[in-house]
Amino acid sequence: MIIKPRVRGFVCLTAHPTGCAAHVQEQIDYVKARGAIANGPGNVLVIGASTGYGLASRITASFGSGARTMGVFFERPPEEKKCATAGWYNSAAFHRAAGAEGLYARSFNGDAFSDEMKAQVVEAIKADLGQVDLVVYSLAAPRREHPRTGKIHRSVLKPIGQDYTSRTLDTDQGIVSEVTIEPATEQEITDTVAVMGGEDWSFWMEALAEGGVLAPGTTALAYDYIGPEATWAVYTNGTMGRAKIDLRNAARKIDALLKANGDGGAYVSVNKALVTQASSAIPVVPLYISILYHVMKEKGNHEGTIEQIQRLFSTHLYNNNEPQLDDKGLIRIDDWEMEPDIQDRVREIWPQVTSGNLREITDFNNYQEEFLKLFGFGLSGVDYDQEVDAMVGLDD
Ligand code: NAD
Repeated sequence: MIIKPRVRGFVCLTAHPTGCAAHVQEQIDYVKARGAIANGPGNVLVIGASTGYGLASRITASFGSGARTMGVFFERPPEEKKCATAGWYNSAAFHRAAGAEGLYARSFNGDAFSDEMKAQVVEAIKADLGQVDLVVYSLAAPRREHPRTGKIHRSVLKPIGQDYTSRTLDTDQGIVSEVTIEPATEQEITDTVAVMGGEDWSFWMEALAEGGVLAPGTTALAYDYIGPEATWAVYTNGTMGRAKIDLRNAARKIDALLKANGDGGAYVSVNKALVTQASSAIPVVPLYISILYHVMKEKGNHEGTIEQIQRLFSTHLYNNNEPQLDDKGLIRIDDWEMEPDIQDRVREIWPQVTSGNLREITDFNNYQEEFLKLFGFGLSGVDYDQEVDAMVGLDD
């Protein structure tokens, strides 16, 4: 089949297997070029391992430290005449690359929120690895079926308390406009916390502890975002920010659980705003990202997901380093994004952006390229006019 991008709003309905593989290979090459990460993780579980920050974590653990990795994700496999989702092709490419270097990789495709998935993974760890010493929690999901109540919770990206009006960017059309977002109801806040908060992370860590598959000294890691004031109303002070507060509270509980099991610890790392499938769905954020990329490239300190995670592992978690925490106990790998001169420049550019000058004064061109790359399009060396076999299995 010949696969071309079919973008609808902030999603792309198609994904290219060869392009996704090339994208994964770029990340592997980056990690290898940075050199080995000393005293890195040995056996790693990544929950949300197929795209974005979770995939970068899996790649960094494997190709930076030679770790054996298990990954959990929710992706659509290919069907006759229908390509798979990008995360499926990414994971297949990851398996191939890991296998070629003799690195153990096993994946589970299904609902990470379910008790069944947790039980299955615990058994697989017992059988194959014995124990894990790093658990990365990197889910970004629109809904969660609660395993104990059976209730379906849906997350929303809304402000709390009052309407919020801001400039936003239609990333498909390249149009800057004003958007007003209604405040969330109490139920929407509760639901968003249920999906993106810390309860499921706690359930995972409890299941792993009860199964006896956490090595003494295990590190548990989850990802967070704070960002600039311009996005606070819709993110940090909105429904998602509430979920992140819940995630940070869960980290304290999980930290105690890990401390009781040896010298481990739970950490929340605040990461940089980047183009991923999850962030492209957030109002206002793509405009901010387009400006931010422009400013950080001007300064020469722009990073993508793989650069962020490689730096997180090599300067905070491993390589004989200790996590450096801010006054709230968070790792700040968003430190370069939040540098005052970067943020001053973003604030300067923000009100000047129009649909007419978007491509000159921001990095919107690259935003669109990066977005398509998430789905395996626009990779150099890939011939998109060639027939490609979409029926790729995870272990082909
Ligand atoms: P993403 O959309 O690229 O990845 C989400 C992952 O979750 C995928 O592997 C997907 O398969 C998996 N997933 C979703 N629902 C699932 C389910 N029910 N069961 C199993 N797997 C499921 O997202 P991302 O942007 O990498 O976000 C990951 C984390 O990083 C989130 O906590 C997010 O808040 C955080 N973060 C993101 C950014 C950003 O700019 N993208 C910045 C800072 C922090």
